Amino acid sequence: MNPRARVLLLNAAIGPLDYRVDPHNPVEPGSIVLAPLGPRQLTGVVWEPEHMPSDMEVGDNRLRPLAAVYDLPPLKASLRRLIEWTAAYYMASPAAVLRMTLASASALDGSPVIVEYRATGHVPDRMTPQRTQALDRIGTRQGLIRELAARADVTDAVVRGLVKAGALEAVTVQADDPYPVPDPAHGPPTLSDDQRAAATVLSGAVTAHTAQPFLLDGVTGSGKTEVYFEAVARAIAEGRQTLVLLPEIALTEPFLKRFEARFGCLPVAWHSDLRQSQRRRAWRAIASGEARVVVGARSALFLPYPNLGLIVVDEAHETSFKQEEGVMYHARDVAVMRGRFEDFPVILASATPAIETRQQVALGHYAELKLPGRYGAAQMPTIAALDLTADPPARGRWLAPVLVAAMEETLAKKEQVLLFLNRRGYAPLTLCRTCGHRFQCPNCTAWMVEHRLSARLACHHCGHTMPPPAACPECKAEDSLVACGPGVERIADEVAVLFPTARTAVVTSDTIWSPARAAEFVNRMEAGDIDIVVGTQLVTKGYHFPNLTLVGVIDADLGLQGGDLRAAERSFQQIAQVSGRAGRGTKPGRVFVQTHEPQAPVIQALVSGDADSFYAAETDSRRSAGAPPFGRFAGIVVSSEIQSAALDTARLIGRTAPRVPGMEVYGPAPAPLSMLRGRHRHRLLVHAARTFDMQDAIRTWLGALEWPKTVRVNVDVDPYSF
Ligand code: ADP
Ligand code: ZN
Repeated sequence: MNPRARVLLLNAAIGPLDYRVDPHNPVEPGSIVLAPLGPRQLTGVVWEPEHMPSDMEVGDNRLRPLAAVYDLPPLKASLRRLIEWTAAYYMASPAAVLRMTLASASALDGSPVIVEYRATGHVPDRMTPQRTQALDRIGTRQGLIRELAARADVTDAVVRGLVKAGALEAVTVQADDPYPVPDPAHGPPTLSDDQRAAATVLSGAVTAHTAQPFLLDGVTGSGKTEVYFEAVARAIAEGRQTLVLLPEIALTEPFLKRFEARFGCLPVAWHSDLRQSQRRRAWRAIASGEARVVVGARSALFLPYPNLGLIVVDEAHETSFKQEEGVMYHARDVAVMRGRFEDFPVILASATPAIETRQQVALGHYAELKLPGRYGAAQMPTIAALDLTADPPARGRWLAPVLVAAMEETLAKKEQVLLFLNRRGYAPLTLCRTCGHRFQCPNCTAWMVEHRLSARLACHHCGHTMPPPAACPECKAEDSLVACGPGVERIADEVAVLFPTARTAVVTSDTIWSPARAAEFVNRMEAGDIDIVVGTQLVTKGYHFPNLTLVGVIDADLGLQGGDLRAAERSFQQIAQVSGRAGRGTKPGRVFVQTHEPQAPVIQALVSGDADSFYAAETDSRRSAGAPPFGRFAGIVVSSEIQSAALDTARLIGRTAPRVPGMEVYGPAPAPLSMLRGRHRHRLLVHAARTFDMQDAIRTWLGALEWPKTVRVNVDVDPYSF
């Protein structure tokens, strides 16, 4: 019997390390343990030594014993293989992937009771600005002291003071209360023939435990959700867990409503907005198998489901499934891998599938299920291009006359309007009309964006904000600042001038930052309390408002700028998705797309409805460029707060690039954001043939180099932009 256990430690720079175990009481691989390291005790997971080489051999007599083994189910071998695969493929450390599985170490603590606090309504005699701010921002929220302090942007002491003064009271939360069990027979729909055919195939795959990825390719409003709910119902009936991944937490609210109508209770939610007690409770229920259906953001993918039988990736084309920090994985692709490791089907649902996904279908790797028409009486909307060069908006305005007239008609019929512009804030650029000074973020190569709703200038990359100065900091001229170009807030201003009695809502991540805000928005839309929505990409997806019949795309050319190879595809997806919000009920929908280039292939494809030829042309151009899915890319981003260190290291990496057939290296060049959060960034782009082991080559290449501690080198495999 091996007296050693190899442990992958969660929060250590070194490892894995070996520990001594009692030979009469061995710990099995996958066990979650507490292991000593120096004076500390760290959480880790026991791993098979043959899967995880150790770089530090320690003699048997010098091994330290494990401190404890948690009373939790060990991680399954298939999950350990997925963690290894993810780490190897995305060139991250296994410990970094494992952290996503264990999610919050606090989930592991023994105590089942947590004390949280909430407002009592009592206002203490002694109020300070800090206390006022804290009570304001805490509102009706409940949480740990630390969570409330973070939310209110005050110190823990301020919150504790409010508890003492009786303004907040303690509430005990049971971390192990059971979740209700969804009932697959609660509210079954009557499916159309197309829907029934697709649902039958998907449910069959759930029952058969086939590791088959499916593309559920249905136009907007075709009822993809109803269809995949049938597969979810089957998994529930068969006692297996289901994970539904959604791209945006704002989307969960309408989803939860529909889920409840279909299954009689809510699923278990997993996203970054959970309170710690909720996170802990959810984690435990997932790990024990009690959580039958989990709906979550991409981070839910690595959780330790003992018994997963289905993953659905809804809006599978969405870019937010790609994580851009830490482990830079693509949740859509890792979901497919998890299905393969654990033998269950994975459903990718989308009205505008990515070219990569379509190619997998063409190769026969993914099965395709089509829903060609909208459900029931709803028709696809008509889409027309508005040529801004021929019929421009009035000076200083952004809405073309045809669109304004259509808005008038729609409002007269008491129907709703959606205006789409993918730009938060009032104006993308603010400058001084006297000297031309532009406001740049001190931490990033980016302009500060004016937000009038919050009366700040904000950097959209690092979050830095400042009040708009009264005078130009450069030439000191007063009242000389001008806003250049439109953001959603400016469009809302124009709408207010044109339609003074209409009720308008601005919908962006600034106004909808929590599931509760999203729910409020949905309720107001459904109650008819909003006439006109002005929104960013946040409103392009998922929502179903039957009375919304007119969509205006303010600037269809915006997405085509920047010149990366994905621009046309992304632009098509975005406009097709926002168009898909129009006419989803019985009333027909209309879409107007404002553009300076009505002949551009993207616009033509949208207007003609011929997505297939557009995709065929895009696919051809990808093929001839050797771009994904025909070839592969990896970005190597070198960053440092010290400019010369970043540049020197980037040059070193460039100089030592291996010259091998099947792989080329471009750069270094300044990264698209050459300064971000105070770090100078350079990027190299690796381009490889599909069959070439790019990760292995990069590992060997970078593994032989050394750079200063101030420099960070991140490899982004399958980067989103190329
Ligand atoms: P998609 O996700 O494909 O855009 P949804 O699943 O949101 O489409 O469906 C659009 C609308 O049609 C929703 O309100 C949905 O409840 C309704 N719907 C779709 N299929 C059915 C069905 N079989 N029975 C009743 N309502 C349905
Ligand atoms: Zn910034």
